[in-house]
Amino acid sequence: MKKKYYWIIAVSCAFLFGAVIQIHALVQTKSLPLDGVVIVVDAGHGGKDEGAQKEGVKEAQINLTISKQLKRELETKGASVLLTRDGAYDLASEGTSNRKKEDMKKRANIINAKQVDLFISIHLNAYPNVAIHGGQVFYQKQSDTSKNFADMIQKRMNVLNQTDKHTKPGDYYILNETKPMGVLVECGFLSNTNDRSQLMQPSYQQAIAKLLTESVCEYLEVLSI
Ligand SMILES: [Zn+2]
Repeated sequence: MKKKYYWIIAVSCAFLFGAVIQIHALVQTKSLPLDGVVIVVDAGHGGKDEGAQKEGVKEAQINLTISKQLKRELETKGASVLLTRDGAYDLASEGTSNRKKEDMKKRANIINAKQVDLFISIHLNAYPNVAIHGGQVFYQKQSDTSKNFADMIQKRMNVLNQTDKHTKPGDYYILNETKPMGVLVECGFLSNTNDRSQLMQPSYQQAIAKLLTESVCEYLEVLSI
């Protein structure tokens, strides 16, 4: 073969190699639906504050387990996830005069960091009427986007729980004192026997983590249209 042809083959190979690298990079940067999205998952209560309790089942503990599963689920879709707590503690410092207030303030500070896109606060409900059951989603008052996002979650919760609940505006510190869009999800009632036993099951906790993640994907998809 003439020397000229070696050159043509070498240049063609180099060009092809470069193109393959570029395509690969393109596929990698846009392959996951939540790439570049920063989400705070807030596991409600913690430390001395166990939240709602029934038959020895403690809200704070289950909130944390669901939050950790939600973090993993969101991360598989490409999101960067921050937990307000990752253990059985609250965020208040030792010797503070008002633990609850400082704890809530610190949670709000984490959510209000400028890189955060949205947040989900995880809680469980309890009510004197033990027949009441199912997930209930609260949104930020005066925020249409928060209501839209809450509706997307509630729709899925209603399917999971065979309920027909509607989202409600929530008068909670974590919704009132935060700047990014977010919701508070009461994942079920500890006062209801069936909800309580389901909320303790990893498969059910996983189902909640999954439906919340699907809702985040739907919300961002609608937003980008
Ligand atoms: Zn709670």
